[in-house]
Amino acid sequence: MTSTAVPTSTDVRTLANYIGGAWAPAAGSDVLEDRDPATGELLAVVPLSTAADVDAAVQAARAALPGWRRTSPLVRARAVMALRDVLNEHRAELAELVARDMGKTLDDASAEVGRGIESCEAAIGMPHLLKGENLEGVATGVDVELVRQPVGVVAAITPFNFPAMIPLWFLPYAVAAGNAFILKPSEQDPLAGERIVELANGLGVFPKGLINLVHGAHDVVNGLLDHPGVAAISFVGSAKTARYVATRGAENGKRVQALGGAKNSMVVMPDADPKLMVDGVMGSAFGAAGQRCLAGSLAVLVGTAAEQDASRDRIVAAASALRVGAGLDPETDVCPVVSPAQRERLVADIGAAEADGARVVLDGRGDAGPGGCSLGPTILDDAPEGHKVITDELFGPVLTLVRASDLDEAIAFVNSSRYGNASVIFTESGGAARAYRYGVEAGMVGVNVGVAAPVAWFPFSGWKDSIDGDLHANGRDAVEFYTRKKVVTSRWAA
Ligand code: NAD
Repeated sequence: MTSTAVPTSTDVRTLANYIGGAWAPAAGSDVLEDRDPATGELLAVVPLSTAADVDAAVQAARAALPGWRRTSPLVRARAVMALRDVLNEHRAELAELVARDMGKTLDDASAEVGRGIESCEAAIGMPHLLKGENLEGVATGVDVELVRQPVGVVAAITPFNFPAMIPLWFLPYAVAAGNAFILKPSEQDPLAGERIVELANGLGVFPKGLINLVHGAHDVVNGLLDHPGVAAISFVGSAKTARYVATRGAENGKRVQALGGAKNSMVVMPDADPKLMVDGVMGSAFGAAGQRCLAGSLAVLVGTAAEQDASRDRIVAAASALRVGAGLDPETDVCPVVSPAQRERLVADIGAAEADGARVVLDGRGDAGPGGCSLGPTILDDAPEGHKVITDELFGPVLTLVRASDLDEAIAFVNSSRYGNASVIFTESGGAARAYRYGVEAGMVGVNVGVAAPVAWFPFSGWKDSIDGDLHANGRDAVEFYTRKKVVTSRWAA
């Protein structure tokens, strides 16, 4: 909710930006409220910073660049090691911040923070990863070498659903490769990102101005996209915003990687191991209340009508047993969604599908909980072909069932999506798994794994409308993204 005045409660902090090694109040006066989705409690007031705040951050980052670029890659890697260690020490605290601010369960939040720490561990390999190539004697006395140099000031614009992990997909690689960094966290849950920036700067191993934070929304994004001092932008969010960021960034001559939305299918073969399948589908469709880019929101039931029905019955029975509640309650399986507005959108989508002929075989539209954000697991069957619940990302605990008579039909259905983020198959057949792996159009594929999130040493992203740009996050792609290649041809008299 936008307002133009800071609420009167004296207990609630108005967040500040972190620029040039110090906290700085935002220049603008507009603010947003950041609330706990489970309780509705006001956690913080988020300033909507302006282009002037972005400019201050870019100037600070530019000032820090030359010294950092001259710093040995070994020393930079050790700085990232220190970041890894401090994040590990504060893992429980960060997980609680994520659980409160975003809403997910503590276990899930701790796993998220762990994944972010893993990105630091992968980035620590930077001295190896930065090594170039050379070729001696391409002509008499002539040698050629390729070196990698940092791109400059880079920014990360991140979504609400992984407020700790996604900033850490970018920060460690960017600085290990010699760049200066600006984070624009999601305005819906910026507290974990803020704490990560604070912990990093508290180490005393990164120069002032190297790692900055600017809170806000559209104006900050536009400020970064339009600022000539920003060389590269890493974005993660919905497909619509990703396309916008990629287009405007490219128009302004920036390097952009924009990871967008998803509509992930889980193909359930009749021979799937029932436990692996049910556990995988539950975790994927309903974990984090379906608010993951890897969430399986379609279950493609393969086989005869009786086999399809048997798979459906297993899924519905398991989903009915899931407990809905607050993320901080250890009994909770399905946490609230991020905001009352998101819950209302989901309820409207379920209602529209029902009105158009879908059957709601499990209905989670009951009690919205104290924060107005709870929605129980919901399963739709018999949705009309091409309906929004089959084609669009809903981003909630809503699973739509689709039927296919055989694997070829299932693969054709999966590949008909405009998205290609992730896709998984549950089967005991190596042949079916191999055919699926070969034929499916997705950047991340799971075989009997519901949430096929690659470890940080591999690139993370999808295909098709799930990404704008060529380079994925993490792994070697991160090194490509955050460096420019320079090829030097030298001749020396013998
Ligand atoms: P979002 O697109 O609403 O917001 C992402 C970021 O963009 C935020 O920092 C926000 O401030 C900014 N933003 C939003 N609208 C903007 C606009 N019109 N102009 C400029 N900036 C704008 O996404 P979200 O709701 O925070 O996150 C959920 C989405 O992110 C889902 O679609 C999910 O699939 C996607 N996601 C993708 C991946 C991936 O790896 N592909 C990972 C996580 C999340």
